[in-house]
Amino acid sequence: MVSFLDGHVTTCPHCWESIELTVDTSVAEQSYIEDCPVCCRPMLVSVRASGGEVDELRVESAA
Ligand SMILES: [Zn+2]
Repeated sequence: MVSFLDGHVTTCPHCWESIELTVDTSVAEQSYIEDCPVCCRPMLVSVRASGGEVDELRVESAA
C-alpha cells in the first residue's frame, strides 16, 4: 500500500530551527496552521503536491 504521508524537512520562520513536517501528499493543494515543535509558535504551511510527492512547500509565520 502506498503511503501518502511524506516527511519533509523545512525551517521554522520564527526560530530558524530545522523541523520535520508530515505532509499528506494525496491532497493537491492545502494550507494549514501548525505549531513549531521547537518554539511552539504557529506557522502557516502551504503545500502543493502531485503524484504522491511534494512539489512545493512554503512556511510562513502565522501571528
Ligand atoms: Zn520554531
